[in-house]
Amino acid sequence: MRDVVVGYSRAMYANWLWHRPLGLLVDAGEGVHLALGSNVFAPTHLLLTHGHSDHVLGLPGLVAARRFGKGAIEKPLTILYPAGSAAVDAVRALISAMWPGVVFPLTWQPLSPGDALALDGPRAIQAFGVEHVAGHPALGYRIAEHRRRLKPAFATLPQAEIEALARQGRRDDLTESYDHVVFAHTGDAMPVAPDVVRGADLLVHDATFMDEADRREPIHATTAEALQVAREARARTLLLYHLSVRYERPLAEVRLRSQVQNSGFAGACWWLDEDRMVQLS
Ligand SMILES: [Zn+2]
Repeated sequence: MRDVVVGYSRAMYANWLWHRPLGLLVDAGEGVHLALGSNVFAPTHLLLTHGHSDHVLGLPGLVAARRFGKGAIEKPLTILYPAGSAAVDAVRALISAMWPGVVFPLTWQPLSPGDALALDGPRAIQAFGVEHVAGHPALGYRIAEHRRRLKPAFATLPQAEIEALARQGRRDDLTESYDHVVFAHTGDAMPVAPDVVRGADLLVHDATFMDEADRREPIHATTAEALQVAREARARTLLLYHLSVRYERPLAEVRLRSQVQNSGFAGACWWLDEDRMVQLS
């Protein structure tokens, strides 16, 4: 897990996550460029879930480090963000006002729920709508990989027969294409529909509240809800993030472990607490 994702999560302070193999950064909370160090040049895409300060205030530092630091300063960065986010527009305006005349190798791409962006190869970034704070457009993202599988009608055939049909050039009749979710990130959100993240290799889900009674407005998920989404979606790995600072660590870790154990979620579960990647199951 630690080889796949590196991140930081402290609710209301700073949140970001770097998916190494995919070359993606999700959100840009403060300090992201300091934590990434020379890896600051690695991401090709930055996926902003919404414009709250703990998710975007590290962006000026990030683009400055990539433009004025030592490394691949001409490497382009595509920044995806929710269309109509006044806060993201404000950060963008700040960047151009701070460095007048400087051309950053940035592409700003506003997205609405359902929009997609093709990546190299068989993958695409797909944006989905999430429920967060009214008036602040918010998106979740999933990386879908185009794959082919045997049609259910052929699933019971003996292997030898399938191979014979394939040799007759019937491969396209035998198989169907589908999207496999390699990675999904909800951003700050109420629980998402399991169908949206079905079968994800890695699901990163908001898990702000351990006790539902602590939630005053419907803007963040509980840890139990995140586990339920992962269980129903049959995700392989769940990463909980954004746990409220009100819960004292390490007591929270003990409670989380027992929640995971009793949740019925059979996959691996991790928790990102600041820069600590904690394995819960
Ligand atoms: Zn938020």
